[in-house]
Amino acid sequence: MDCLFCKIAKKEIDSNTVLETEDVMVFKDIDPKAPVHLLAIPKQHIKSVMEVEKLAGGVLEEIFESIAKIAQDMDLADGFRVVTNTGRGAGQSVDHLHFHILGKRKFAWPPG
Ligand code: AMP
Ligand code: ZN
Repeated sequence: MDCLFCKIAKKEIDSNTVLETEDVMVFKDIDPKAPVHLLAIPKQHIKSVMEVEKLAGGVLEEIFESIAKIAQDMDLADGFRVVTNTGRGAGQSVDHLHFHILGKRKFAWPPG
């Protein structure tokens, strides 16, 4: 399968990795939309939240624990955003589940 984030998870394509566990990778977004803009992914390929039942047990918890650790380490806890665009209508451009972690700027609500 030709999936960009699978290739990043297998290190076939370079990424700027900030955290890695057996099942999870967190790396810098190549086109940042905030001073801190990271992507947290399961190494296992699933398309989106809509396939979350296929994900191995514990991996979602591991992703969110990784996000919390990064927020702590990068001093984001005062205000950061976790986003998962799902489907073309919401702007999903890579069909491998990923959570954007955005921080170090003000965020509007509702989002655009
Ligand atoms: P989305 O549009 O929500 O599916 O998010 C995909 C994200 O992947 C975008 O923010 C892109 O900037 C980012 N992206 C695309 N290619 C790469 C890459 N090679 N390394 C890191 N981030 C990437
Ligand atoms: Zn993939």
